[in-house]
Amino acid sequence: MIRFEDLIDKIRSATPDADTELLRRAYVFSAHEHKGQVRRSGEPYLVHPLEVADLLADMRLDVVAVAAGLLHDIVEDTPNTIEKIRELFGEEVAHVVEGVTKLSALQFASSEERQAETFRKMLLAMVDDIRVVLVKLADRLHNMRTLHHLPEDRRQRIAQETRDIYAPIANRLGMSKIKNELEELAFRHLDPQAYQALQTEVEANRKATEGLMEELRQKLAQKLAEGQIPVVAIDGRIKRLWSIHQKLERRKVSLDQVYDFIALRVVTQSVKDCYGVLGILHQTWSPVPGRFKDFIAMPRPNGYQSLHTSVVSDRGTPFEIQIRTVDMHRVADEGIAAHWKYKEGRVGAARDEQYFHWLRQLLDTQQDVRDPAEFLRNLRIELYPDEVYLFTPKGEVKSLPQGSTAVDFAYDVHTDVGHQCVGARVNGRMVPLRTRLSNGDIVEILRQPGHTPSRDWLTFVATTRARNKIKHFIQSEEKVRSIELGKRLFDKDVRRFNINKALITTEALAKVAPEYGAQKPDDLYAAIGYGKATARAVLARLAGQDALRERAPDGAIASVVKRVLGSGEATIKVRGVDDLMVFRARCCNPIRGEKILGYITRGKGVSVHAAMCPNVVNLLYDPERRMEVEWDKGADSSSYVVRLKIHVADRKGILADVSTRIAGINTNIRDVEATTDEDHRASIRITVEIVDLKHLDRVVKALKSIDGVLAVERGNR
Ligand code: MN
Repeated sequence: MIRFEDLIDKIRSATPDADTELLRRAYVFSAHEHKGQVRRSGEPYLVHPLEVADLLADMRLDVVAVAAGLLHDIVEDTPNTIEKIRELFGEEVAHVVEGVTKLSALQFASSEERQAETFRKMLLAMVDDIRVVLVKLADRLHNMRTLHHLPEDRRQRIAQETRDIYAPIANRLGMSKIKNELEELAFRHLDPQAYQALQTEVEANRKATEGLMEELRQKLAQKLAEGQIPVVAIDGRIKRLWSIHQKLERRKVSLDQVYDFIALRVVTQSVKDCYGVLGILHQTWSPVPGRFKDFIAMPRPNGYQSLHTSVVSDRGTPFEIQIRTVDMHRVADEGIAAHWKYKEGRVGAARDEQYFHWLRQLLDTQQDVRDPAEFLRNLRIELYPDEVYLFTPKGEVKSLPQGSTAVDFAYDVHTDVGHQCVGARVNGRMVPLRTRLSNGDIVEILRQPGHTPSRDWLTFVATTRARNKIKHFIQSEEKVRSIELGKRLFDKDVRRFNINKALITTEALAKVAPEYGAQKPDDLYAAIGYGKATARAVLARLAGQDALRERAPDGAIASVVKRVLGSGEATIKVRGVDDLMVFRARCCNPIRGEKILGYITRGKGVSVHAAMCPNVVNLLYDPERRMEVEWDKGADSSSYVVRLKIHVADRKGILADVSTRIAGINTNIRDVEATTDEDHRASIRITVEIVDLKHLDRVVKALKSIDGVLAVERGNR
């Protein structure tokens, strides 16, 4: 058991002028208040706060954090209040203790809800005072070290939570030493059999492994000496069991060589020497292609820097090597904690660090996400950033998660750039917006003022930022449209039943609105537009049921729809209603000449389907929402965008044939994309501008006549 005096010595040797008097008082108070309490292990309770304080001292945190470590369970486990702590130890210590106490007090029905809320609280705490989270991490680490004393079910829950929440947070803060230990302990409790088996195997091979490491180490040391590259240390280490386990899972192979257990690390004095070591290394052993990563030139978002490479040993087996400077090494172990020690003044100074930039952005984009499952999914992406590095045309570096597209890139530049992006040029070549970007791509976003995001984008964006911005935009658009649609449906019924207009005042509407869960008349209209309330019901409420006697229809009023959703491409007549918002349904994308019918959607206006569209059958269950529509005969010959999927034999030149043939019949091509699947079945997706059904028939016929075209399908988006 650690002694308090040892703790004081440790702090004094790191910070000679530390206020140890504060610590002494905190220790005496904690010892007194926890007196008589015992942990599951049978040890006095005080051991726990003392160990937590010791971990915080190891992180070289200030006395406030260490004192908070000594006092962190006082409010939760003794009758003392936070005011008492404030009175005795001051505002700062109390603030940290209060933050830690709040994090412990979360109670939720489902484990998912609890996780999401724990995360959310942790993130907020980080921005407020990072020491709260560091005390909590130290608390969790000591609890994990002593977890075997707890009953099975609690052990499982705590270990799972550690793996899901605490280890990722430590990782994101760059504190790999703590993260590694948390993961290792979680593995041991969550999958004891796999852990034991792996441990036995590593132990059985320990001698051979250590011999091999020494062999590699000596050879490398000798080569570096010959090359006159000075190094501080060459360490060989056996990898963590969790990391070996994950590697085996990924590769779906069994352990057969001790090479899988080991990794070498070279620590140098300067960055220049890091690259010098790399050169010697690659001359001595062959590098494994694709495994070299330069995290020095492009640090990970959590601040981590190193060179990573794998080389093939003399025995033909690859092994991994990390190369970094002394400073990088410390940051790699301690992460955010390493940063402050070298900072002037208080911990608060670290607020401007990249960590906080990341946090603020994360909180900003996540605060509207109410669904815990979605929140957690987003967070997992953010916490395990497997990133690609991209460049703006001006050479500015951006790092985005693996799988990001041009749209993600655009949103990362600016929300407006995202909203307005219409195309992208990658390395000078036009590509579809959904194209996944690769390391080193130079990405230029093409914008069009007034352009707005498409719901489609949600199917391929990879970042939570882009996702949330698009969703937010679509939701506010839908709200505007629902209000408008609701108003029209309402007015239509007012005319239909010839209701006394004097009864329909804003005040009257405002009065009944709450009955439909709406706050003001606009919300009530929106509810009607969304289909949550019917105009009839609201009118019955305002004018009385008797007023709603059906009158003879005043004849169909056909009028040309002026506003059409999207690009103003189509004009469709709607019977009975003026100026409704009409758009062609994505599922069947009808074009002029086809038989169509309309359906009042919830919130998006009237969607117009081809009468043959299979979805129409499913819409019939709600005939109230159906509407007669027809193409406006007098309209000009503006075109529609139609997507086609062409199944082709995988032969050279077919793409060129397709584009030539289509251009040959005076048809504009908006976009072409060719793909080949694993079975060598190739297809071409093409977006063309079509005037009417006859035109489309001509295009399809022309395509089918090309040698190698197997079938042509009309796409749904
Ligand atoms: Mn505790």
